[in-house]
Amino acid sequence: MPLRTTHIDRIRDGSFDTLIIGGGINGAVTAASLAGRGANVALVDRGDFASFTSQASSNLVWGGFKYLENYELWLVFKLCQSRNRLMRAYRANIKQIGFYAALDQKGPYKPWFAALGALSYWFVGQFGTKAPRLLSRDKIETEEPAINTKSVAGGIEYRDGILIDNDARFVFSFVRSAIEAGAAAANYVELVSAERHGDRWVARLRDVDTNEEFQTSARTIVNAAGPFVDETNRSWGLTTNHRIVYSKGIHLVVPRLTTRYHSKVLAFYDDTERLFYVIPMGRRSVIGTTDTRVDTPFTEVDEDDIEFLLSQINARMDLDAPLTKDDIIARRTGVRPLVVTTTGSDQTDVDWTKLSRKHAVETDHRQRVVTIFGGKLTDCLNVGEEVAAEIEELGIPLEKDLHNWYGEPAEVTKEEFFRQARLMKLDRLRSKPEVEPLSDRLWRRYGRRAFAMLDAIREEPAMAEDIIGSADYIRVELYEAARSEMVTKLEDFMRRRSKIDLVVSDADIAHSAGLREVAEILFGPDEADRRLAEYFGGPDEVPEVVNAGPGPTQAARSAGDFLISPR
Ligand SMILES: Cc1cc2nc3c(=O)[nH]c(=O)nc-3n(C[C@H](O)[C@H](O)[C@H](O)COP(=O)(O)OP(=O)(O)OC[C@H]3O[C@@H](n4cnc5c(N)ncnc54)[C@H](O)[C@@H]3O)c2cc1C
Repeated sequence: MPLRTTHIDRIRDGSFDTLIIGGGINGAVTAASLAGRGANVALVDRGDFASFTSQASSNLVWGGFKYLENYELWLVFKLCQSRNRLMRAYRANIKQIGFYAALDQKGPYKPWFAALGALSYWFVGQFGTKAPRLLSRDKIETEEPAINTKSVAGGIEYRDGILIDNDARFVFSFVRSAIEAGAAAANYVELVSAERHGDRWVARLRDVDTNEEFQTSARTIVNAAGPFVDETNRSWGLTTNHRIVYSKGIHLVVPRLTTRYHSKVLAFYDDTERLFYVIPMGRRSVIGTTDTRVDTPFTEVDEDDIEFLLSQINARMDLDAPLTKDDIIARRTGVRPLVVTTTGSDQTDVDWTKLSRKHAVETDHRQRVVTIFGGKLTDCLNVGEEVAAEIEELGIPLEKDLHNWYGEPAEVTKEEFFRQARLMKLDRLRSKPEVEPLSDRLWRRYGRRAFAMLDAIREEPAMAEDIIGSADYIRVELYEAARSEMVTKLEDFMRRRSKIDLVVSDADIAHSAGLREVAEILFGPDEADRRLAEYFGGPDEVPEVVNAGPGPTQAARSAGDFLISPR
């Protein structure tokens, strides 16, 4: 039975210590932390996990260098601590990366002043990264020829962390950790309503995929609905001291703009003197972001956003040809849920970009609801711990925190994986050695689960073949996703478990004969057509090449049996 069905069966008429609403980073990390400490937890999201804000971030794990501009030293100190801790716990998934800031002669800061800022950042960050550097104009020209240095006075390089795969996949790693610790979790399950009966909450839930409604009960609720926390609290009559306001941010994915693969993040001041970035994403670059006050969580990348970002890039980079709309491979948009207090002055009147980006956790002891307002991916471990403390206060006993609900497997396990990969010459099997050794990639994405993938590749070398052109996904990863990643719709895999939708153009996806095989492995031959039609927007929209594509070969199927039991 598919994983999701099993979990919905557990949630239906279930009785939990805590029901968590929302499977973005805050809900996922809460589920991992509570389940990891012995609580009986259910986690639901009305979309896919991480399908709202948590798929729209810049993928950066950072201490907030730019908040130094507002002298928010305490916030920067706390964020740097969270960054350092996260980088230590996820050595393969979060890489330290240089932020290479070229400073314009007419820009807000002289290079020496920015270098002082970078040095302070390094101090405040307790030397958790390599030291910053002051860069001369000549140095910038040699090290990154793609930067237009005509009006550049000099620059700095400071360091932070970056999620190598993507934010949504990182979120899913917490969902998986929660599941491994016994939590019941399901995507595409919406909270319709909830009421208190005696000392319990009884919640009505809806399976968004089938429209079936059912109920479940829990002693406490964690509201982790991100931009929707206020309306969710209102729906059960809860008033809070905090509320959310929205800041829209967009990113554009374009062909790689930097000279070397994945070497650094470029940082520039835009015309409004706000920092924006060119961030590596696999073999692509991501440009962004923006910071616009909006009144709704539902946003789109509009023409003005695109024009603004393209003009900023073209003015600051020496590209072979100016970047145009045609170069855009994918667009991402989201709203940062920013916390303000409902009491006191209306803080939305202050300078928008100066509103604090710190999260707040608020508990209603009478109703037994914990709400998470705002936050960052970077701060997620603190959120997990803070919510656990609140849940304990509400009378749910938790085991001692051994800090084993997050992080990558132990060093000895990693050494054994790389030893086995070396012995079977795994990295020689792959077709594109220039990007990243396959062993690194499998270890990073799957940890302990990657051992079974080695078995499957030993059984059938075709399992190590790329499945969609330049997507950096091999066949065996599909079998693993089908078994354990709760892929309900094709988009879940294409956009969130992998980043194929972000780095491969729509035209290339439409010409991909491998997509039918992807769908058949993920959903089985009977369900593949429906899911392909859903992905392309109707049965008649599925491209001929995809329709005619071959399914998995018998050999691949039987090797996949190492990983996936037949549906
Ligand atoms: C442009 C941009 C760039 C950013 N860059 C960074 C960065 O580089 N580094 C960083 O650390 N942070 C960054 N952030 C911040 C970070 O992404 C967010 O703070 C974080 O993702 C918020 O997570 P969340 O879990 O609170 O919300 P969400 O991810 O939005 O999750 C809430 C979930 O609740 C679900 N939900 C709502 N109502 C219901 C219901 N009734 N039933 C079931 N489910 C429901 C939604 O479907 C949604 O999936 C960025 C944010 C933006 C917008």
